[in-house]
Amino acid sequence: WSQARRGCRPAADEAFTNSLGVVTVTTMDPAPVPHVDAVVVGAGFAGLYALHRLRSQGLSVRVFEAAPEVGGTWYYNRYPGARCDVESVDYCYSFSDELQQEWNWSEKYATQAEILDYLNWVADKLDLRRDITFGTRVNSAILDETTLRWTVRTDGGEEVAARFVVMATGALSAAMTPDIPGLDTFGGEVYHTAHWPQAGVDFTGKRVAVIGTGSSGIQSIPLIAEQAAQLYVFQRTPNYSVPAGNRPLSAEELAEIKAGYPERRRVSFRSGGGSPHVAHSSPTLEVPPAERRAEFEKRWQLGGVLFSKTFPDQMTDLGANAEAKRFWEEKIRAVVDDPQVAELLIPDDHPIGAKRICTDSNYFQTFNSPHVQLVSVRRTPITAIDATGIVTTEAHFDVDAIVFATGFDALTGSLGKIDIAGRGGERLADDWAAGPRTYLGLGDDGFPNLFMITGPGSPAVLANMVLGAEAHVDWIADAITYLDENGYAAIEPTPDAVDNWLAELAQRAASTLFVKADSWYLGANVPGKPRVFMLFCGGFGVYNDICADVAASGYKGFRLIPA
Ligand code: FAD
Repeated sequence: WSQARRGCRPAADEAFTNSLGVVTVTTMDPAPVPHVDAVVVGAGFAGLYALHRLRSQGLSVRVFEAAPEVGGTWYYNRYPGARCDVESVDYCYSFSDELQQEWNWSEKYATQAEILDYLNWVADKLDLRRDITFGTRVNSAILDETTLRWTVRTDGGEEVAARFVVMATGALSAAMTPDIPGLDTFGGEVYHTAHWPQAGVDFTGKRVAVIGTGSSGIQSIPLIAEQAAQLYVFQRTPNYSVPAGNRPLSAEELAEIKAGYPERRRVSFRSGGGSPHVAHSSPTLEVPPAERRAEFEKRWQLGGVLFSKTFPDQMTDLGANAEAKRFWEEKIRAVVDDPQVAELLIPDDHPIGAKRICTDSNYFQTFNSPHVQLVSVRRTPITAIDATGIVTTEAHFDVDAIVFATGFDALTGSLGKIDIAGRGGERLADDWAAGPRTYLGLGDDGFPNLFMITGPGSPAVLANMVLGAEAHVDWIADAITYLDENGYAAIEPTPDAVDNWLAELAQRAASTLFVKADSWYLGANVPGKPRVFMLFCGGFGVYNDICADVAASGYKGFRLIPA
């Protein structure tokens, strides 16, 4: 009866074979669908914490994870050079002082392997695996409107009923491969950075093409270049990247950070980007030129994505942004030998920071190597892939391997793959046809007790996502406690609250430079995706205040449904 033990509903009539080979046909009533308080989908940073937090407050929880292990992003993205771009000491759980005191990060920006080790260590320490079903994809979540229970169905045919569903499916977990004619005819090796082989890849002596120069391309290209005999980098959009300045962390430095964690985390939760480095207090052009330059230099040395937060007006004022851009361009021209290549590598179509600034180690310097060639597919588009390589409007590039570093269907991609039906059978996919609709990024009207973590409508990828996930999980867990203590069965955003939130998101975005780039924040990298700025860009601290205020007011904007 393994089906029943796994929680599947057996068919009404079934044949069973005993150990002697005798077949018995039994007629029976369908077994009831097993029930838990909450189903969590995904076992990355967000899902693991959701399991721990909800379980700690007495809920029964089932987690389904498509991958064979924990880790999410850090399970899949094993490409060479994969690292976090928020400092390791900040890009880790803050909810348990024991965890943050016990774990020792070895470098300023941890490698994928170290982050995955950390997540496995957390999963062991908190005994999380016993409630996670791995290698299992959730295909659908259907609401029964009379009982307000969700039926969650997996690709293995298992069904579980739950009062709450928490979608911890990841903002960057639906990888994109462009539809290039002839890809299936290619005779060499094909890889995607987001589905990198566990055993790694040896490119020694090979001719390699990397398609894409977003974050994954920028991190992997210098290391692939170290091995490859010939590397062609196919660039559609040049991107801003700031050196990581990565280095080992000393024992003294770590001890100091650990001693200061309470304040470091307090500042991070109140900051614009979820890290403890706050912007200079004055607008860019009010700061004298020498001091301004020194401030940019300080951020440059700090490394990475926070360069876009040097001054408070950098993402709202084109003049201020131009100052940052000028500083950045000087730095790049100084390290790229060929001025024509430098010109190709410097973005000319969007303000700095309007797309996520990447964090690299020797990316631009890589193009000084004679065996590395930059191909602008904006000038000479890729027309096809054939058995031996890549065809552009101008040339044929013979290669042994192609690496797609082409990113994700961000924010909505993973949710869109699940058939989610709420009140009246309305599909989430239909409700979001013109762009994602949420209140606070936490839920949508018509979908009671269905929560999203770091989904569209929240700061998500604009802030440290570990702290973002913690903030969401805590808010959801507190809301569930509130429901139970006050005799409510369910919580659901009102249509007005959703509409008002979307208007607020749009209005906040319109007052920034974010809308001046064809970025994945706007869905611009996915053919046919509605062009909507999907994030709350008012800052992580401001957003946390809004969510806290909503909760403190008895969940204004939400309909609370009596039990
Ligand atoms: P994920 O880690 O994406 O996990 C989601 C999980 O859900 C996946 O394991 C997936 O298999 C599972 N899943 C999805 N759909 C289903 C389904 N239908 N059924 C079952 N399982 C499902 N953010 C930062 O803040 N700082 C950084 O430095 C940073 N670096 C990054 C580097 C890379 C290379 C990438 C790709 C992303 C990076 N991010 C960074 C963003 C990163 O995605 C988040 O920080 C964080 O890991 C997200 O955790 P999560 O649990 O929300 O989602």
